[in-house]
Amino acid sequence: MRLILLGPPNAGKGTQAKQMVEELKVPQISTGDIFRKNIKEGTPLGVKAKNYLDEGLLVPDELVVQIVNDRLDQDDCRNGFLLDGFPRTVAQAKALDSYLEKNNLNLDLVLNIHVEKDTLIKRAIGRRVCKSCGATYHIDFQPVQIDGICDSCGGNVVQRDDDKKETAEKRIQVYMDETQPLIEYYQSKSLLKTINGEQEISQVTDDIMKEVKENFQ
Ligand code: ADP
Ligand code: AMP
Repeated sequence: MRLILLGPPNAGKGTQAKQMVEELKVPQISTGDIFRKNIKEGTPLGVKAKNYLDEGLLVPDELVVQIVNDRLDQDDCRNGFLLDGFPRTVAQAKALDSYLEKNNLNLDLVLNIHVEKDTLIKRAIGRRVCKSCGATYHIDFQPVQIDGICDSCGGNVVQRDDDKKETAEKRIQVYMDETQPLIEYYQSKSLLKTINGEQEISQVTDDIMKEVKENFQ
């Protein structure tokens, strides 16, 4: 099963991906997570990507496409994958099409999580992530049990720099300019299903799994 989770920053893609991989048994591939890991480890890729993430801008297509192609070549993607945060431009979507074509593979479904701007800002401002394991929380909607401490690993829970209001707003604008055209792109290939991402987390998961099942039975 080869799926894409599309949607603006803070729509809930990562939150839903975590639930989906458990059921679908395919790996979640989050380009944002890959960049953050490389930045933390100070790798050459991390050094190249850092300023773009800090500024809320997209990392250049060539760099992103190369890391995704390399990741998709790995064995655990043989039975499928769940892309979270990729593609984000039409050029990236076309590069993914070429990769799939070269490898005789098809995309099965693109789930577009729709959330209004005001909600996105509230989710950004309240999002907290664990510095050690990357688990995601929200101060109001998904709080940790002990202030500042990750429920699953005990690490420190902090705000992402790019979730500060100004950068979050910039990222939404970047989404509208560069990523929103993908809705049309995948609609024209009859692959797109839109999900109401304003609902409670568990309801969004139910709606997503319903679409997945309808498309695979
Ligand atoms: P994305 O991966 O799309 O950037 P996340 O999954 O990290 O988004 O979610 C952004 C923030 O919103 C997180 O703090 C998460 O806990 C919260 N969140 C996600 N989905 C919902 C929802 N349906 N209702 C309320 N809060 C949510
Ligand atoms: P995310 O964790 O998906 O919100 O991504 C965080 C940041 O990583 C983005 O604001 C971009 O700077 C960068 N990034 C992640 N995925 C991509 C992508 N597909 N194309 C370009 N930049 C990306």
